[in-house]
Formats: sequence, C-alpha cells, structure tokens
Amino acid sequence: MIQWLFFGWCLFLGVQFGLFVRHFETMGRSGYFSRPPGVEGFLPIGSLVSLKTWLFTGHFDTVHPAALVLFLTFVAMALLTKKSFCSFICPVGTLSEASWKVGHKVFGRNFRVWRGLDLFLQFVKYALLFFFIKLILFGMPVFALKEFLAAPYWALADVKMLHFFTRMSATSITVIAVLSLLSVIYKNFWCRYLCPYGALLGMLSMLSPFKVSRYQDQCIDCSLCSRVCPAQIDVQHKVQVHSPECTGCLTCVSNCPAKGALAMAFVKQPVPGVLFVVIVMLLFGGGVLAGMLSGHWQTSLTYDDYRQLIPLASRLSH
Ligand code: SF4
Ligand code: SF4
Repeated sequence: MIQWLFFGWCLFLGVQFGLFVRHFETMGRSGYFSRPPGVEGFLPIGSLVSLKTWLFTGHFDTVHPAALVLFLTFVAMALLTKKSFCSFICPVGTLSEASWKVGHKVFGRNFRVWRGLDLFLQFVKYALLFFFIKLILFGMPVFALKEFLAAPYWALADVKMLHFFTRMSATSITVIAVLSLLSVIYKNFWCRYLCPYGALLGMLSMLSPFKVSRYQDQCIDCSLCSRVCPAQIDVQHKVQVHSPECTGCLTCVSNCPAKGALAMAFVKQPVPGVLFVVIVMLLFGGGVLAGMLSGHWQTSLTYDDYRQLIPLASRLSH
C-alpha cells in the first residue's frame, strides 16, 4: 500500500512538474503551476556531485538542494533500515515488483537466471556504481564540480529528465521495452542486476542494525520464506539475513506460518513489522522535513531564470 501511495505521489509530482515546464515552453500561454522540489529525487548522479561539493567546500547546492537532501535521506535509511528505499519508496521498484507478479500470473512462475550468470549479472550494478563513484568522487576536481553545479545543464537536469520520459527516442523506447519484458519474466531484473543506486544502498545497508532473523526453535522448515523472497535469498537456511540484496520488505516475515519463527530484529531483538515500517516512514519524513526547515529544499532559481532557461532545454546536451 505504501509503495503504491509513493508511486501515485511520484506520478502527481511528475504531472505537476510537467505542467510547470509546459508553462514556460508555451511562453506563458498555459497556466502556471508551482515547481515540486520532490522531482529532484530523480537526479541521483547530480546529487553525488552535490555531495562531494558539500563535503569539500561546505557549499550546499542551491539549484537542486532537494536532490542532495533526498540522497542523504535515502543513505540514512539504508544505514538504519536496510534498503527500505527500494521496497517502500522507489517507483521503479514498485513497477518492477508489479511486473514480475504479472509474469507469475501469466506463466505460473517466475524464471531464474542460471546461477553462474546470475552471480555475474549481480556484479554489473556494482561495476556501474564503481564507474560513477570513480568518475565523480575521484575523477572530478573541486573546480569541475563547481562548474557543473553552476552550468545551465544542471539547472535544467530535472527538465531533461522529464523530457527523457515525455520525448523518448526510439533507442530509449527499445531499451525500456526490453527491460520491461525481462522484468516480467525475472524477479526485479533491473533492481537485481543493473541499478547502481540499489547497489550503493545495499552496501550501506550491511551496516544496518536491523536484520531479518530466524529463530530455529520455532521454525518448521517449510521453506516458504525462501520461496517468497523477492531478492531470492535463502532465508530458510539463515539464522540472520546478512545480504546487500535484502530490502527489508518483510515479505518473508509476513508469509511465515510459524509464529515467532521469523522477524525483523533490531540487534537480535525481534520488533513488530509495523514498527519497522513506522521507523522507515519517520526516517523518510524526517529527512524531508529537515531539508525543508533548514532551507535546503526550494531551488534558488527564479521564475525569470526558468523563463529564460526552459526554452533552451532541447539545445543543451551536456
Ligand atoms: S523477503 Fe525477507 S529476506 Fe527477502 S528481501 Fe524481503 S525482508 Fe529481505
Ligand atoms: S517460513 Fe518460517 S517456518 Fe517456514 S522455513 Fe521460513 S522461518 Fe521457518
């Protein structure tokens, strides 16, 4: 339910942002809608640039401050409540899950990638993450970061992202169609193999004090937890789940038929699933609220800036 609420919220933000952009693209002929800063959650690579700039210079980006606030919020969530961003908030995760559920209905099951290939493909998302980290955190000197954040391209990064979805090229459509098809056949194809954001959050989530824990005295070895796990973790044969793939989705816990056999545990102490979800939501809400109250949420760009910049968006390629 929470996943779909966030999905609906993302759609709402997307439409509102689309109407905001349209106002400037039509030179004011269509109505004005305020710009929702939440769309900056779709700028993770730029937020890495912002993060390094902030750490090295103390300057918190004012053009897309919400991008960094959301990035830091998701990092904090991973450190405390595993990859809960992936299982509760990310709209791609929601679509991915809906896709394999459709596939399960159509084919009666979801297919599994051959074990050796599966391990190799899981490595791809870490390779992509390494590429971005090397490029941005190690490859870009501070002056280049500042130039990036001051450039019109960064100012319009959200508009370019919108255009990616509203003006798709044949290549984009083909790639998305192939990924969608693979997501119907295989569980969470994009998340499991290709998402560098998930790879980063997964690595950080290893530090989380929360772990899915199995209490062997109560376990009846039915294997349901392993079979339902969207991340294909063999929960049945673990005492605690220490995997960067675990999203804390609680699917295993909620399907376990043996009372007290499986729980999300905080430093080995089982906690009610509802409490875990409440903590996830509080972390997310707290991060956003902290950004708003500290003045790091609304862009510093003005109406006039957008009036001049947005008509140029299609001409900016880098
Ligand atoms: S089903 Fe359980 S082990 Fe699998 S990802 Fe969800 S919480 Fe983690
Ligand atoms: S679903 Fe519960 S009872 Fe069944 S194997 Fe997993 S932990 Fe044990």
